[in-house]
Amino acid sequence: MSYLRLALIGASLTASPLHAEWISGEEAIMGTAIRVELWQDDAAPDAANPGRDAIAAVMNEMRRIDRLMSPFIPDSELSRINRDAAAQAIAIDRELFDLIQTSLKFSKLTNGAFDITFSSVGYLYDYRAGVMPADTQIAQALPNIDYRHIALDSARGEIRFLRSGVRIDLGGIAKGYAVDRGIEILRARGVREALVSAGGDSRLLGNRHGRPWMIGIRDPRAPGREGKPVAMLPLQDAAISTSGDYERFFERDGVRHHHIINPRTGRAADTVRSVTIIGADATTTDALSTGVFVLGVDAGMALVRSLKNIDAVIVDRAGKLFFSPGLAAPRETSNKHLQPKS
Ligand code: ADP
Ligand code: MG
Repeated sequence: MSYLRLALIGASLTASPLHAEWISGEEAIMGTAIRVELWQDDAAPDAANPGRDAIAAVMNEMRRIDRLMSPFIPDSELSRINRDAAAQAIAIDRELFDLIQTSLKFSKLTNGAFDITFSSVGYLYDYRAGVMPADTQIAQALPNIDYRHIALDSARGEIRFLRSGVRIDLGGIAKGYAVDRGIEILRARGVREALVSAGGDSRLLGNRHGRPWMIGIRDPRAPGREGKPVAMLPLQDAAISTSGDYERFFERDGVRHHHIINPRTGRAADTVRSVTIIGADATTTDALSTGVFVLGVDAGMALVRSLKNIDAVIVDRAGKLFFSPGLAAPRETSNKHLQPKS
């Protein structure tokens, strides 16, 4: 009897009992901050720590996707495509093939505003070093931007660039995709309430114990954590992405050169400061936030209105806010991801 009691005390010292609680983790991956927050039930057996394990699994998935899709890693699959696909059709990783195919779908949907071949000119910019291409360089490379230069053969799993000088970069969609993968991993492990975010792309699983998650939209001219958000959105089971002109930029002669490129000009899209898209999955909201940023308020909102379960908040270049109809009248919203305030 006393031996048993001692053994029990010993066990509780080595494996401290888990409490039901919110736990979180943050790491720098894919050139941004990855954050995972989840509700851990207390039903776990001794010595197991499923919540922490799940967070680690999401972080590992982010590292895997980065190694596959980074244009900055010379031996990534994406770098290999940029090196070899203009010379001949090459067989590529299926997951990457599928995301490129999805990217082409968003190019058609946005009439070319979202275009992963933006990089044919975009790679000439170095925002950290304040380097930009000369006008003649832009003019020379501009014809290489066009998603129709990408030929995909689904049966063979092959990609080919139809002209030399074409480059692709998945920076406008890969983080959203990685967030979706993170949510899938958590769901498969039985997590029911969680947030996964990669920079400006987030997705929410469930809600916060019966209350919606409250997600703020940053003020594009005071984007730090201190700045007061321009809007707060109550969300559940939703994805939300913001594209802004404040994430990566430098200024020259009064012009802000930032990382969202208008494929028609090879220069930073300049009619808005930020675009936030709300929808079901983060791959979609990421691609659309970039595409709608290029389209601007009128064409962008027209596209948003034409899509089911998609809403948007746009801050234009004068700082004026625009809400899509589903947000302007949240009680009557047709977007099932938005929680009407009660
Ligand atoms: P972030 O979360 O980094 O702010 P965004 O979703 O706003 O990302 O996308 C910006 C990134 O998208 C750029 O850094 C670049 O990699 C890529 N990009 C820039 N212009 C375009 C474009 N017209 N179409 C597709 N991708 C783009
Ligand atoms: Mg994006």
